[in-house]
Amino acid sequence: MTERIFNFSAGPAVLPLAVLEEVQRDLLALPGVGMSIMEISHRSKTFDEIIVNAESNIRQLANVPDNYRVLFLQGGASLQFSMVPMNLLPANGKADYIITGGWSKKAMKEAQKCGQVNVAASTESEKFTRIPTPDELRLDPEAAYVHYTTNNTLYGTQWQQTPTVGNVALVADASSDIFSRPLEVQKHGLIYAGAQKNLAPAGVTLVIIREDLLARSPQGMHTMLDYNTHVKERSLYNTPPVFSIYVMGLVLKWLLAEGGLATMAQRNEAKAALLYAAIDATEFYRPHAVADSRSRMNVTFRLPSEELEKQFVAQATKAGLDGLKGHRSVGGIRASIYNAFPQTGVEALVSFMQEFERTNG
Ligand SMILES: *Cc1c(COP(=O)(O)O)cnc(C)c1O
Repeated sequence: MTERIFNFSAGPAVLPLAVLEEVQRDLLALPGVGMSIMEISHRSKTFDEIIVNAESNIRQLANVPDNYRVLFLQGGASLQFSMVPMNLLPANGKADYIITGGWSKKAMKEAQKCGQVNVAASTESEKFTRIPTPDELRLDPEAAYVHYTTNNTLYGTQWQQTPTVGNVALVADASSDIFSRPLEVQKHGLIYAGAQKNLAPAGVTLVIIREDLLARSPQGMHTMLDYNTHVKERSLYNTPPVFSIYVMGLVLKWLLAEGGLATMAQRNEAKAALLYAAIDATEFYRPHAVADSRSRMNVTFRLPSEELEKQFVAQATKAGLDGLKGHRSVGGIRASIYNAFPQTGVEALVSFMQEFERTNG
């Protein structure tokens, strides 16, 4: 058996070992089917059960109310940057965007192609080290929607609370913390997440949309870009990413078996606390995010010099701690510790950090 190392990659990211083992065991022939999941029709009874169960497990895990639809789309979170404004922002309408990092900026750029966009808040002048406070939000009560990024994968900041936006539809890019803690679906109009960080292999994008918003899609929309198509065809208008949805189904079952989102939140909190405590214990490591905006998914920090950061990453890789190089926009180190990342891996990183400081500090 090949040994697995600790994978701190920001995405695609670590998957639960139990899920990978089940995929491996059943890869040549699904029990009772005799064919691989990769070889069966998306119109087959087998796949229909997989996608129906995945949806029902999502509804159970996140308490999704009945007036929300669950969609399995393609094109990644990046296509949602376009689909959201194309469907929800009328030609003469306006939208509020809260800018907390590179992904929010990319989302806003696409919305600007559809209509008027207002920056409701931005922490860019502070290098995205924090989430805006509620009183910093300059929200337009006439906006078609407010868009925010729940967790900023590059900078390592995370909303600690769902923003309050009155009666305006709240749209969340939850790509890098979906199902890492309880999710207040009912406070949102639409939630989307590329799956490859916390849910599945790349290829599928989860969208949860409140039914009343479906009426906003303009006439004459391209079929594949219209949420209504995917609602009507139950995400089976064209060939969906069958394998990714299958693995997502197994991850959802794993989440439920482990105790659901409250348990995940506890574990993620404990893992992150361990790592932040190690960073805070010394001047050698400096956190990027301010304390009350810290992410439990992506922990970002700097060392005294770029040279030391290079050595840190190289030596960590040798020690079986992979994927720790920070995103180029922040530099330094980023440890991504998603749902499937084990506590033992965080403990191994903390030991490595202490030893690295002892020999280089
Ligand atoms: C990774 C990421 C994206 C981009 O996702 P794709 O599926 O590659 O398009 C968007 N938003 C956030 C918050 C991300 O972490």
